[in-house]
Amino acid sequence: MTIPRARSRVLIPASIWFLLFLTFISSARATIQYEVLLEHPEKHLFHVTMTIPEVTGEVIVRMPAWNTLYQIRDFSSHVQQVEAFAGSQKAFIEKVDKQTWRIKGSGTIKISYGTYWDETGPFASQLNAEHAFINPAMILFYVLARRGEEVELTVNFSSAIWSAAGALLHTSFVSGRNHVDTFRAPNYDELADGPIEIGKIEVFELPEVTPPVTVVVHGENWRKKVVEENLRRICKYELKLMDDAPFERYTFIIHFGRGAGGGGMEHANSTAIGAYSDEYLANVAAHEFFHLWNVKRIRPATLYPVDDTKEQYTRALWFAEGVTNSYASYTLVRSGIWSKEQFYADLGDQITELEGRLANRWQSAEQSSLDAWLEKYPLYNQPEFSVSYYTKGQVLGDLLDILIRDRTGNEKSLDDVMRSMNAHFAKQGKTYRDSLDVRLTAESVAGGSFEEFFAKYVAGTEPFPYQQILALAGLALRTTEHRRPALGFSMEHEQNGPFVVNSVDSEGPAAAAGLRAGDVIVNWDGGEAPRRVDRWLQEQSAGDSLKLRVRREDKELTIEFRLGEIKETLYQVVEDPRPSEKARHIREGMLRGETSVAVVH
Ligand SMILES: [Zn+2]
Repeated sequence: MTIPRARSRVLIPASIWFLLFLTFISSARATIQYEVLLEHPEKHLFHVTMTIPEVTGEVIVRMPAWNTLYQIRDFSSHVQQVEAFAGSQKAFIEKVDKQTWRIKGSGTIKISYGTYWDETGPFASQLNAEHAFINPAMILFYVLARRGEEVELTVNFSSAIWSAAGALLHTSFVSGRNHVDTFRAPNYDELADGPIEIGKIEVFELPEVTPPVTVVVHGENWRKKVVEENLRRICKYELKLMDDAPFERYTFIIHFGRGAGGGGMEHANSTAIGAYSDEYLANVAAHEFFHLWNVKRIRPATLYPVDDTKEQYTRALWFAEGVTNSYASYTLVRSGIWSKEQFYADLGDQITELEGRLANRWQSAEQSSLDAWLEKYPLYNQPEFSVSYYTKGQVLGDLLDILIRDRTGNEKSLDDVMRSMNAHFAKQGKTYRDSLDVRLTAESVAGGSFEEFFAKYVAGTEPFPYQQILALAGLALRTTEHRRPALGFSMEHEQNGPFVVNSVDSEGPAAAAGLRAGDVIVNWDGGEAPRRVDRWLQEQSAGDSLKLRVRREDKELTIEFRLGEIKETLYQVVEDPRPSEKARHIREGMLRGETSVAVVH
């Protein structure tokens, strides 16, 4: 017999260990337990056994319809072979709706099932020969009436090189190649909010940051020095900015490399980030770390409590996501990761992106937030159908900041709005009433009304008065006209699948030649369709011909047309060489994150 020995006690100081031990003894019987086996990773199937103690008569379990992304993804569609047992006997189990099961029985009920996941990125779950990444809400049922009870997740796997890490309290036992890692949380929602990485990982702590911040990295294409230094600057700056550190320990789980996916996902005490290389990390990390306050603790009333059975509508994402973007860019320039030229270039790019979208004329920042649930449809993301609340919200955040600084002679800023919302909502355990409380907080910080600004630019779709507001910060907006060839349609492909046309510009030459949404591209100018069509377009000119062979239903046809032309306006944010003294202070204040007025000579 081999007795498992504790190899490491990851992330738990001795005093907490003792408390945990006591808690574990006193509540072990009532804890809802999950055991997840990672056998045959190449089959991508998590084997889950859920143990529910003290059931009387029946129990109802459910799988969330959404988590992490504001998209209904129906995680129950990944589930197979659900069985239930009361003691050693099979128990009666029936499906109630697409995501809910009812089990009859008493005492301890065990439910077993498999769930298939092989999707890359921080919003997904994956089990393959490379690693396992788990967003617990995507693989674990919860007990409908007992969602608030203590839970424990044990992951079993066999490997000589893999180990497990996550944001939750965690114990790790290793015997030979066998690993047993146990994560505990006071309830299902906190378990669901702690992603887990299992694989060949590197773990280190950021120097000079308190409370401690742990970094867990999987993948290649990264330099430890760069990652450590950028994250250190980001965390230090944002902790100072908010004058608050609402966590005992924070964990960055980062996947680098070609197959790492992109983007990041915020959690209460951690984030999961996917990036091609360390070059792309800083902006995402600055955004995700700021979510520690904005959205995870400064929470809109419309998103809490969470209803994961159906769409949860909110008009606040322009603030929760967009203004978090404003703070990512502020953090990068104020901590010296970006130069001020990079800051201006980013703001110019955001304005170009926003103004280049036809939908900007009719979709407000609030409506874009409300319609987040449509983002899973590629057509909706086209410029004629939507604007991004990230982009529109980021620009709104910067403009509002300038107005607050101007109104108060640079004594107050958007930083004060964030700190005030943290003090009055997050720290009081209260949610805020979407745009209304953002406006009221901005008004109390700056004095006077922002009613017109919110009515016109947040709830409404009036064109933003860029020149007028930027001038208050000694900045100006320059435009240049740019012409580029246009494909006249968009396309997408499943992993390793062929490209499929998903929308056709009705005014363009591709439409006139007969191309339709749904056409499968089998040949592109005698070869394969380019994987990066934006790069391909850079080498073409308007008027060049393109010959496509497409499959439509069971027929193949050839469609030939000439590339059209798009006129594009590029926006550039530049410094006014002779700003007023006040405007110069506001500009410096924004770039440095300062509010005090400098001595006037
Ligand atoms: Zn975000």
